[in-house]
Amino acid sequence: MTDSPKSRDLYERAKRVMPAGNTRHTVYRQPYQVYAASGDGCRITDVDGTVRIDATGNFTSLIHGYGNPRIREAAIGQIETGTCFGMPTPGEVRLSEILAERLPAVEQVRYCNSGTEAVMNAIKVARAYTGRRVLAKVEGAYHGTYDPAETSQDARPESWGDADTPASVATARGTPQGVLDDVAVIPFNDAARAERILRAKGNDLAAVLVDAMPNRAGLIPASDEFLSMLRRVTREMEALLILDEVITFRLGYHGAQGRFGVDPDLTALGKVIGGGFPVGAIAGKAEYLSVYDPSEGRPAVQHGGTFSANPVTMASGIAALEELTPATFDHLESLGEQFAKGAADCFARHGVKAQVTGLGSLRRIHMTDASLTDFRSLFATPDAAQQVADLARAVFDEGVLMAANGLMAFSTPMTRDDIEEILSAFDRALPRVLDGSDR
Ligand code: PMP
Repeated sequence: MTDSPKSRDLYERAKRVMPAGNTRHTVYRQPYQVYAASGDGCRITDVDGTVRIDATGNFTSLIHGYGNPRIREAAIGQIETGTCFGMPTPGEVRLSEILAERLPAVEQVRYCNSGTEAVMNAIKVARAYTGRRVLAKVEGAYHGTYDPAETSQDARPESWGDADTPASVATARGTPQGVLDDVAVIPFNDAARAERILRAKGNDLAAVLVDAMPNRAGLIPASDEFLSMLRRVTREMEALLILDEVITFRLGYHGAQGRFGVDPDLTALGKVIGGGFPVGAIAGKAEYLSVYDPSEGRPAVQHGGTFSANPVTMASGIAALEELTPATFDHLESLGEQFAKGAADCFARHGVKAQVTGLGSLRRIHMTDASLTDFRSLFATPDAAQQVADLARAVFDEGVLMAANGLMAFSTPMTRDDIEEILSAFDRALPRVLDGSDR
């Protein structure tokens, strides 16, 4: 790794006061973490002055990159008038109106501070509305760190159980067995098997939680057959369908639900809708969100949150969404396609077995030519995950920031030249990854 003395010193200090010097596993790196100093457009400058092109956008949330003038102005304006109040503010009304206008399945919105909380609250709404306990979720899919939502992401095949009834596996040690017992794990894009698992839960099934393109299960788009089965079966079983759009909202002007043509009861939102500030939202049909209604006495679900709907997030989120016009989605779409094609050419030039999954501005690199269909298929090539992590480290030295699992998120300030710059970093990095000289 390129030497970064200021980062090394910061990391030495961090190790004394933070576990392993780290506060987000997703940004951990060895032998030390490299600290960001500033961002501009689609580039980040670290504390030692090295500039890199940012192909993660803070894990997909910064769709407009850094320093977008309109978002800046909105955020600074709000900071000057007040960062948070023990009162509602007009911004929450406007942001909700925009989300309800754009997302076909959203009538109402309620705010929290992260995608984790949005998913947690959606599950609580579904349980309160149905009076049932079981949550079904896709094997390997990440939905934040609420206990039931984080089950079954274990990379060890011996933990998986058979394909007909995938096991509900704890992610955090100490997760109560009762939590695991109330989660039904379904295989991604396998409509027949998933339907059998759901039906077996009968009147206990409260909700199905699904991401239409789950990153950690491969960033593979859900099939129409799978999504329409989930919609049909949840309706028949009187359970709710929760769509996690924390990442995939950025797939189109009408969100993932517009792009995939799915009509969820509840939608979990986060990331992009906060314009770069902490955010989460539980959105959906008014009938279900009525479990929060306090107008006639104690609501079925209690929910507040000191910083929920904080005005700086609301102002920045409004500006970010107003900047997200249909034309910007066309631009993001073409950047994603340019990258996918360019990466495929680059892999071919180097004779590497690799592929790119994803859609639009969200792409993920896999160092395997095996057919990728679901979470389990990601582990068919033993070295694939390590090689992607090696590639991420190597391109970091070549001036590109990407996630260690190969996830990339492109942003509106990027141009075709920026994508070419990313691809040429791949060209330089790949030989080092292939000969293992970076390990
Ligand atoms: N759902 C999905 C699909 C996510 O990717 C994430 C975070 N990457 C979350 C939920 C949790 O969001 P947060 O990190 O804001 O808690």
